[in-house]
Amino acid sequence: MHVHLARPDITVREWQAVKEVLFSQSLSMGPQTRAFEEAAARYVGTKYAVSVNSGTSGLHLLVRSLEIKKGDEVITTPFSFIASSNCILFENATPVFADIDPTTLNIDPDRIEEKITRRTKAILPVHVFGHPVNMDAIKSLADYYHLMIIEDACEAIGAEFHSQKAGTLGDGAVFAFYPNKQITTGEGGMIVTDNSEISKLCISMRNQGRGEDEGWLKHERIGFNYRMDEMSAALGLIQLERLEEILTKRETVASMYRERLQDLPEVTLPPVQPNVKTSWFVFVIRLDEKLDRDKIMSFLRSKGIECRPYFSPIHLQPAYRNLFHYRPGSFPVTEKISQSTLALPFYNNLTAEEIDYVVETLRIGIKKSP
Ligand SMILES: *Cc1c(COP(=O)(O)O)cnc(C)c1O
Repeated sequence: MHVHLARPDITVREWQAVKEVLFSQSLSMGPQTRAFEEAAARYVGTKYAVSVNSGTSGLHLLVRSLEIKKGDEVITTPFSFIASSNCILFENATPVFADIDPTTLNIDPDRIEEKITRRTKAILPVHVFGHPVNMDAIKSLADYYHLMIIEDACEAIGAEFHSQKAGTLGDGAVFAFYPNKQITTGEGGMIVTDNSEISKLCISMRNQGRGEDEGWLKHERIGFNYRMDEMSAALGLIQLERLEEILTKRETVASMYRERLQDLPEVTLPPVQPNVKTSWFVFVIRLDEKLDRDKIMSFLRSKGIECRPYFSPIHLQPAYRNLFHYRPGSFPVTEKISQSTLALPFYNNLTAEEIDYVVETLRIGIKKSP
């Protein structure tokens, strides 16, 4: 049996929608993009939604629209996908890491205050694996120190913190639609905000800095080509219409794993917290420190089961070590947890048989481990 780590959930509806765009001959900056943006704003409950060609582009535009620049600092997590910190470097500002909470694996609000300096401009929390950050704590710090909040919701569309949707919890937020995310556009992302100035700047900067009338050769500022195309938007629109169905399927897969793994003392399951709704992005368990995680991973792979050590700490990536001279030990919680995480195959249409196979193989792997 071969079990994939992630798979998109594409139906005949998506196929039909993309085909219609191809026949319409309107392939960029057209009705699908506008419809997808309107639907996204409506779903999240923000005034504005601006589509872009990746989550990374969206984060970059948010940082830039907040005028974060050289000399400024942004506090963020070292336990994330590298884009959440790279977007700060793109504008020559400095990412300042705060270690994580060992339960939620999100940035630990109690470790943020000690990192705030005169240069701090913003906090960039990431809802890691779709589990919302404790935004009450982040917001009160941001209010007290007059900091902006950039919400990396790339893994968390549909998640809620105290019944408030991810994407509405900061000054601006970004969702990502790479094929392993909850919903996909192939490549793509969406910025959401209630701030008209941020929205205006993002719309201009994704489109070569054109002004509001989008006059073809009138460029008011330096911008980029971060536009989403019409095929992607058509795909995203259907996926967004199917979001509740998709999230329910993912919830079901997560509970099937939970049921089958709960009696294993060597396994820590993903957190469940009151007042929080997780939008399942991946299913990441943690293995007892005494086990050899990498050996268990090789064993699973030898049995046709794809798996990953999510995440490898950002500060220990060669690119960051070269720039900032981080060493092992800089963020001990992140580093320790990174050595024990294991992302199991996780996607909408994973069957009970496949889950049984993964769990049985994992049990054998754990028994074989020293
Ligand atoms: C997926 C993801 C992004 C953006 O990814 P793209 O591949 O650029 O769409 C950003 N931050 C996090 C935490 C992510 O998981």
